[in-house]
Amino acid sequence: MELIFATGNKGKLREAEEILGRGYRILSPEEAGVSAEVEETGKTFKENSLLKALHLYGLTGKDCFADDSGLEVDALGGAPGIYSARYAAMPFKSFPADPRDLVELPGTPDHIFSANIDKLLAELERLDAFEGKARFRCVATLMLGGEPHFFEGAVEGRIARQRSGNGGFGYDPVFIPDAYPDRTIAEIPEDAKNAISHRGVALRRMAAWLHANYLKP
Ligand code: IMP
Repeated sequence: MELIFATGNKGKLREAEEILGRGYRILSPEEAGVSAEVEETGKTFKENSLLKALHLYGLTGKDCFADDSGLEVDALGGAPGIYSARYAAMPFKSFPADPRDLVELPGTPDHIFSANIDKLLAELERLDAFEGKARFRCVATLMLGGEPHFFEGAVEGRIARQRSGNGGFGYDPVFIPDAYPDRTIAEIPEDAKNAISHRGVALRRMAAWLHANYLKP
């Protein structure tokens, strides 16, 4: 089955290909000849995920999916949450943020990921709140025949005091999942990350639903 994934994030694309595995051909928006860029004006992961999926479906008319994901840190009242990708662009102590306060961050995706981690560690240092709980969440929206279907996943853990590991992307170098209490997600192999990750859970739920409802023999 061919599905377009509404993301420009190479880490997400690679993970989705591996999680969904054989039987799926996952295309990037670029490969489908469109741009998936859309302003994320929603107030929840679900709203933003739907927004991205509707946008891509509107451009292509083809079956596709989107995800919106992010990190929630309990000691920060759930921040950075839906602003995870843009956390470094938010003024301190402004969560929930007013999207009008967000500035465009210069640099490559890796620079931005790194600036986001710097901001997260600085906030936790300021509040002396490193031991608390945190989680990654993901809401995937599948657009099938023009109808949306939602699938959710989460992975629990906590934030490390410093970066370790080179794997994954985003906040992975500082996220210690409960399943591997001595390592960050960036220190475990990609298939181990996908087996426990928020995106892994959500996309496997999507695949199971497709299998049961759509790909039936
Ligand atoms: P989105 O592309 O709008 O869904 O933003 C997701 C942001 O959340 C990313 O830019 C990362 O900062 C963070 N994020 C989401 N999933 C992961 C993950 O698997 N590992 C690390 N960071 C993640």
